[in-house]
Amino acid sequence: MSLKRKKVAIVGAGIAGLSIAYNLKKLNIDVTVFEKSSELRDNGLGFLIMSNGMGMFNQMGIENFIKDKGNVIEKFVSVDKYSNVLKDSPIENCLAINRSNCINAVYNQLGEESVSFGKELIKYASVEGTDQKILHFKDGSTFTADILIGADGISSKLRNGLYPDHPKTEIKEKEIVGVAHIPELASKLQNTFYKVINLEEGVNMGLLPSTNGEIIWFIQFNENKIKTPGNSPEELEKFSKDIVAGLPLEFQEVIFASDFKQAFLWRMYDVDILPSFHKDGIVLVGDSAHPLLSFTSQGVNSALEDAHILANLLYNNPDSKAVDLFDKFDQLRRPIIQEAINGGRLILDQFLHPEKYSNFEVPFVEHGAK
Ligand SMILES: Cc1cc2nc3c(=O)[nH]c(=O)nc-3n(C[C@H](O)[C@H](O)[C@H](O)COP(=O)(O)OP(=O)(O)OC[C@H]3O[C@@H](n4cnc5c(N)ncnc54)[C@H](O)[C@@H]3O)c2cc1C
Repeated sequence: MSLKRKKVAIVGAGIAGLSIAYNLKKLNIDVTVFEKSSELRDNGLGFLIMSNGMGMFNQMGIENFIKDKGNVIEKFVSVDKYSNVLKDSPIENCLAINRSNCINAVYNQLGEESVSFGKELIKYASVEGTDQKILHFKDGSTFTADILIGADGISSKLRNGLYPDHPKTEIKEKEIVGVAHIPELASKLQNTFYKVINLEEGVNMGLLPSTNGEIIWFIQFNENKIKTPGNSPEELEKFSKDIVAGLPLEFQEVIFASDFKQAFLWRMYDVDILPSFHKDGIVLVGDSAHPLLSFTSQGVNSALEDAHILANLLYNNPDSKAVDLFDKFDQLRRPIIQEAINGGRLILDQFLHPEKYSNFEVPFVEHGAK
């Protein structure tokens, strides 16, 4: 059966699921996204859309629309704790955007009729003698799909079902992320991604000016040197205030202006590349296929690339067997994702063990990015 007459089901309405649905729908393919939440999960703080991600928005025809919702970042400046500049370099075609603005922008372009909310996938079954899958949702409903795409994020049920023994290791670098509303500082920083590097004490902190006077911030710390706080807003606030005490004033100002009910502690995992991004006729994209370390800045950008490449493969080969196209997708994405994994691991090692590196680049966001 030609793809034009097939039903595509995507599990998960994050940036990966919504973008692939948008790309397929533009090509007149029958696609439905199933999201477990009752509405769009547009919480979260910010994305750094790098040039490869912007390129994907360009291909989708919505680059300018997205640009309007974010703040263009033109340079990266890192300093030491005494404000001495360590690095000052341009960044090309990069955008800081609030996660909600980004997710909503793609959702609005896709159209609400393509997303079915309150549909938590709990299991699926193959229809004998066909490539079809029957999806079973927690609310008791089912859906029969000709093609099933897993975009269900970092804790993907589909990935865990397909590869139950694939190892993941919690890493010793932790991040606290938050947002502060400081219009004066945001306009002073303007288009600069500003970061302080204090490796001896095991801390980095970054400031990303976003829209409406907001500054998205993150603290990266080395758990071998600094004890991880609890998750409560009070604990995160106390911890962050202690951390910034020795850092330049801008970083202190941001922490003291933040509402810690919006901040959260991010625990990250190092995950080897999967044996294949598809199995049993199911293909995985975005974080469900390849959780990446935040150092790579590639979580959202690689999800956008996956969405573009898979949609094009499906569209350009309507009469091919889905499994052959999934193989092709795996071949195309594997070296790029492996590079991002390696890049993330190198920066992580530099961060955790600076004494091993006599001559390394200051950990920088463009590492590992395409
Ligand atoms: C709530 C949230 C906040 C985030 N905040 C940030 C942030 O501030 N900065 C940042 O850089 N990254 C953030 N991330 C991670 C970032 O969105 C991803 O790294 C990246 O964008 C890749 O997106 P994705 O679509 O693969 O996964 P995700 O964005 O994680 O989307 C996966 C989607 O699948 C849905 N889902 C999961 N299981 C099922 C199921 N069984 N059935 C149906 N649906 C299911 C989830 O509800 C979610 O909507 C956040 C993720 C989430 C879910």
